Amino acid sequence: MSRKIEQTLSIIKPDAVERNLVNEIKEIFLKNNLIIKDSKKIHITKEEAAEFYKVHQSKPFYNDLCTYLSSGPIVVMILEGENAILNNRKLMGSTNPKDAEEKTIRKLYGISIDKNSVHGSDSMENAKKEIEFFFK
Ligand code: UDP
Ligand code: MG
Repeated sequence: MSRKIEQTLSIIKPDAVERNLVNEIKEIFLKNNLIIKDSKKIHITKEEAAEFYKVHQSKPFYNDLCTYLSSGPIVVMILEGENAILNNRKLMGSTNPKDAEEKTIRKLYGISIDKNSVHGSDSMENAKKEIEFFFK
């Protein structure tokens, strides 16, 4: 039996940091077989947000998204565990909190499709890149 230990990048976005939800969200990860290998609270510039989210540069929401991610402190974390990438995405729930499954982070805490409380890497390749972006 192969055990796929992965690392993924998680971000607690400004809306959740502002509402003091960091510990509650971290608890959800810890209760669901994810270890927090590293964590830091930072406030990034709009240019850094634009670089981080550049896969979305052609989207209509790109500019607002970059303004938003740089609007206040965020907490960036390396999460590690078995199938960490998919596990984290499931714990987050759908992009739009309105569509998110019960008990997911976005269902519990998300305000709107843009203020949806968390980011999580969506693939092995992006997880590597995103961890590198914030921690190397
Ligand atoms: N987003 C938005 N409007 C949209 C779609 C996405 O503001 O119509 C924001 C939202 O904050 C989302 C981020 O852009 O988390 C990245 O979008 P993606 O489709 O990658 O969603 P995610 O992977 O975060 O679920
Ligand atoms: Mg995404």
